[in-house]
Amino acid sequence: MVEICSKGDCVACGACVVACPKKCISMVYDQEGFLYPNINQSDCIDCGLCRKVCLISGMQEKSNNKPLTFACVHRNKDIRMQSSSGGSFSAFAEQIINENGIVFGAQFNSEWEVVHASVDNLIDLEKLKGSKYVQSKMGEIYFNVQSYLKNNKKVLFSGTPCQIAGLKKFLRREYENLITIDLVCHGVPSPQIFKLYLLEHTSKIKKFSKIEKISFRDKRNGWKNYSFYLKSQLKNGKFFETCESNKRNLYMRGYLENLLVRPSCYNCPTKGFSAGSDITIGDFWGVENILPRLSDNNGVSVIFITSDKGKKLFELVKKQMMVVQISFEDGKNGNSEIDRWLLPHPKRDLFFKNYSSRHVSNYIKYCLSLPFKKKVILYIRKCIVLLFGKITYEHLKNLMVRI
Ligand SMILES: Cc1cc2nc3c(=O)[nH]c(=O)nc-3n(C[C@H](O)[C@H](O)[C@H](O)COP(=O)(O)OP(=O)(O)OC[C@H]3O[C@@H](n4cnc5c(N)ncnc54)[C@H](O)[C@@H]3O)c2cc1C
Repeated sequence: MVEICSKGDCVACGACVVACPKKCISMVYDQEGFLYPNINQSDCIDCGLCRKVCLISGMQEKSNNKPLTFACVHRNKDIRMQSSSGGSFSAFAEQIINENGIVFGAQFNSEWEVVHASVDNLIDLEKLKGSKYVQSKMGEIYFNVQSYLKNNKKVLFSGTPCQIAGLKKFLRREYENLITIDLVCHGVPSPQIFKLYLLEHTSKIKKFSKIEKISFRDKRNGWKNYSFYLKSQLKNGKFFETCESNKRNLYMRGYLENLLVRPSCYNCPTKGFSAGSDITIGDFWGVENILPRLSDNNGVSVIFITSDKGKKLFELVKKQMMVVQISFEDGKNGNSEIDRWLLPHPKRDLFFKNYSSRHVSNYIKYCLSLPFKKKVILYIRKCIVLLFGKITYEHLKNLMVRI
């Protein structure tokens, strides 16, 4: 029985699927709704290529140099508002498209699943903009990347750090015409849970016809208090919209509180800039403490440049953005995800054991709710703080009267 890597380590990059010379590996959903490779044992010739391209079998040496770090906002306000942070991804992608290159990234397909795809023009680039908090399906995308590279096309490949590391392992050589951008990553939630969540949501709407738009990072209530936005069309042609803060939306809460995340993310093999990307981008959380003049609540990107290729591209695009160089530590401090593993939510296993027989939003809510004892302790603590506040105030008032 051939095993590529242990299940808990597999990141679903799909390098093994495309590398297999017998095409006997496919990706199938497990009970938690995540994709894993499945080998058709009767066709397997045990050549070992799948294990060789698996990123778990070892990655390239990590550089010890501190990345150059910048705070950036795209000068075009519309682009910034369509993007999750400061719109820096668009600036890089536009440059590659203008050089007649091709850009790979994550987009929704017609079923509202998140998949990796390529675009070669500015109109289609819209589809890649914005974070989709669902693990994207890679399909045979690494193979397409390789074909373009071999045909000397300039390629920008963007994705999570493990998707970049998977691509590098699959390619097994450096290409001068490839530039890679990864995202600071909190981990990826289950595609099947998202599907169930959408089904539940749309079935609540009477006379529902179809989903029109989904945004995980709507900025109408500000970048810091970003919202999950969903627009649906009804059978009578009218539209129905919901927009809920990430602190209230149950899907987002389940993701951000580490309930819905893939097992390999809890021991992610690509933390701390180890994926080998040229550029890493993320939200510059905490910008208000370091650069208050950039902090207008419309989103600021933090950019880490980790290679000469990344530096060259950044030099070309920086005129599109307002750019301030900052220290590596300032860029990293607001984002523990860069080099710290996530802790699984204590009820993660319980959730995935039972979700299929439950109403998924209610079950997320149930799993996230605090036990009664903890709630009482928190309530008492809050009362004490309030009471002390009051006593101090009363004391001061009495003192003032006596004086
Ligand atoms: C799953 C996930 C977790 C993240 N976690 C953090 C975090 O903890 N801290 C932080 O600072 N930033 C995180 N980010 C990155 C952040 O949300 C922004 O994507 C990033 O700052 C770039 O924003 P932008 O404004 O430059 O461009 P945007 O237009 O917002 O970025 C679009 C880019 O995101 C890629 N992308 C979108 N969805 C996916 C997906 N599901 N899988 C792979 N690539 C995708 C697109 O291909 C494109 O490259 C995360 C992003 C994702 C997708």
